[in-house]
Amino acid sequence: MSDLRDLYQTVILDHYKKPRNFGRPEGADRTAQGVNPLCGDRVQVFARLEGDKVAAVGFEGSGCAISTAAASLMTQAVQGRTRREVDELFGHYHDMVTGEGEGDASLGKLEVLAGVREFPARVKCATLSWHALRAALDGRAEPVTTE
Ligand code: ZN
Repeated sequence: MSDLRDLYQTVILDHYKKPRNFGRPEGADRTAQGVNPLCGDRVQVFARLEGDKVAAVGFEGSGCAISTAAASLMTQAVQGRTRREVDELFGHYHDMVTGEGEGDASLGKLEVLAGVREFPARVKCATLSWHALRAALDGRAEPVTTE
């Protein structure tokens, strides 16, 4: 188990130091901001839909290792998914980080964040970018806040 933990931490640190899909993707026409005052995390998520599918997604902002890695991993996980699939994935992800569920095979690489369940204050860090993404896909203009 401790080896697995080390591996997870390595993946989280890697995504923190080298965030994937950082920046505004070309043609992105949807965006929303997320703020987590508790930790000081700020994120802006950008997306472009093609039909009902997420054709491109990226993010900018600054925050702690968990929030940055979670945003980076999220951009990879939702690529090519429909809005409904994004909502379903978020449901499984939310259950995982809050410890309410067992997780789900569809989570894939997102499972590296399962350890967050042991740190309830960090759940907001891990879900901030997801709330912002869903606001962006819904076309909600006002910033989302975890408070
Ligand atoms: Zn944070």
